[in-house]
Amino acid sequence: MSTFQAPKGTYDLTPPRSATFLAVREAISAPLRDSGYGYIETPGFENVELFARGVGESTDIVTKEMYTLTTKGGDQLALRPEGTASVLRAALEANLHKAGNLPVKLWYSGSYYRYERPQAGRYRHFSQVGAEAIGTEDPALDAELIILADQAYRSLGLRQFRILLNSLGDKECRPVYREALQSFLRDLDLDEETRRRIEINPLRVLDDKRADVQKQLTDAPKLRDYLCDACKAYHEEVRALLTAAGVAFEDDEKLVRGLDYYTRTTFEFVHDGLGSQSAVGGGGRYDGLSEMIGGPELPSVGWALGVDRTVLALEAEGVELDLPATTSVYAVPLGEEARRVLFGVVTELRRAGIAADFAFGGRGLKGAMKSANRSGARYTLVAGERDFAEGVVQLKDMESGEQSAVPLAEAAAELAKRLG
Ligand code: AMP
Repeated sequence: MSTFQAPKGTYDLTPPRSATFLAVREAISAPLRDSGYGYIETPGFENVELFARGVGESTDIVTKEMYTLTTKGGDQLALRPEGTASVLRAALEANLHKAGNLPVKLWYSGSYYRYERPQAGRYRHFSQVGAEAIGTEDPALDAELIILADQAYRSLGLRQFRILLNSLGDKECRPVYREALQSFLRDLDLDEETRRRIEINPLRVLDDKRADVQKQLTDAPKLRDYLCDACKAYHEEVRALLTAAGVAFEDDEKLVRGLDYYTRTTFEFVHDGLGSQSAVGGGGRYDGLSEMIGGPELPSVGWALGVDRTVLALEAEGVELDLPATTSVYAVPLGEEARRVLFGVVTELRRAGIAADFAFGGRGLKGAMKSANRSGARYTLVAGERDFAEGVVQLKDMESGEQSAVPLAEAAAELAKRLG
C-alpha cells in the first residue's frame, strides 16, 4: 500500500473536481434556505445508542455498517451513518420544538460513514445535504420537501431522474399489514438469513434484489390494501399537491427503504444513468422517531440527498456546471521591486472584493503566464523594472489579448471599473 493512498472505500476531493461538489452542495441547499430552513450542524459521532434506537437494530446500517468505537473514557460512540437521528436529537436537546414555532425546519450538510462493500457510487465516507421538518403532520410539508429536492436537481440541469413514492402506513395500520406479510412469507422457500429478517423486519424482504425471491413475492399482500383511511387520505393529498406543482412521480409499492423509522410518505430519487447504485436521494415521514429515541411525540418528515451520487449523475448526463473562474486578476512580477509592489496591488484588490492571485516564488515570465492562463483570470498585471521607471504596470486582457500600460496608482481602480 502506498503511503499516499486514502483508506479503502474513500476518496479525496481535489481541484478542479472539488468545485463541482461545492456547487452541488450550494445548489441543493439554496431552495431550502429560501424556504425557511435554518442551518444545523451536529457532531460527526454520537452515542451508539442513538442510532441503535433511532435507525433500528434490525437494519443493515446498524448491524453491519456502523463504525463504532470505545473511547478511552469508556463511551460507546459511532461515526454517524445518517443525519436524521442526530438532527432530531440536537433539536430536542436545544428544545427547538418548544419555541412555539412548529415545524422546526432545518437543513444540514456533511460527511457520513458506512462500512459497506465499496463500488462505484458506494463509499465508506460520503457526503449528504439533508433537510428535516420537525413537529408537524401536514401533507403539504411532505410535498414541500419533495418539490424542493426536485427544484434542486433541476437547477443543476439534471433531467434523467425519477421520483418513486409510497406510503408505509402508520402505527395503526402498519402492524396489521406486517402480520399478514409475515404469515405469507413464512410459507415461502427462503434461506436462513431471510427467514430471520421475516421476524425482525419483514418489509425489507420485499426489497430483496434476487430474482428467485422476487418470483415468490408476486402474490404477497400489498400494503396499499391495508392502509387505514387516514393514511390513504394523507397520501392522496401528498400526491395531489405534487401533481398540482407539476412534479412527476411514480407510485412504487415496493419502496420500503433501509431505515426502520419511516411511516406514511416515503420517497426516493433515482437516476437512470448510475447503474446499480441508482438512488441519488431519499427520505420520508418519521412520525415515531422522536418517541423511539426518548422524546415527545413529534411527527416529522425529511430527506437526504447524496452529493457524491449527484455529481456522478451530472457526469452521466454530461452536464457541465457553469462554474465561473475563481480568480479575476493574476499578477506577474518581474524582479524584486515588482514583487513587493504587485503584492501590494493584489492585497488592495482583494480588500476591494476582487479575486486576485499572484505568481509566487520568483518565477520567469513564461511559467508565470502559464499559471495566469490556468487560473482563468480575465486580466493579468505584469510589471518589471522598466515599467516602474515609467510609473506604470502592463494590464493584459486575457480574452482579447490586448495589453495596455496603466499608471500604477490607478491599476486597482481601473481593474475594479473593468470588472464591474
Ligand atoms: P439513505 O440514508 O441510505 O437513504 O441515503 C440517502 C442518500 O445518500 C442515497 O440516496 C445516496 O445518494 C447517499 N448514500 C447513501 N449511502 C451511500 C454510500 N455508501 N456512498 C455514497 N452515497 C451514499
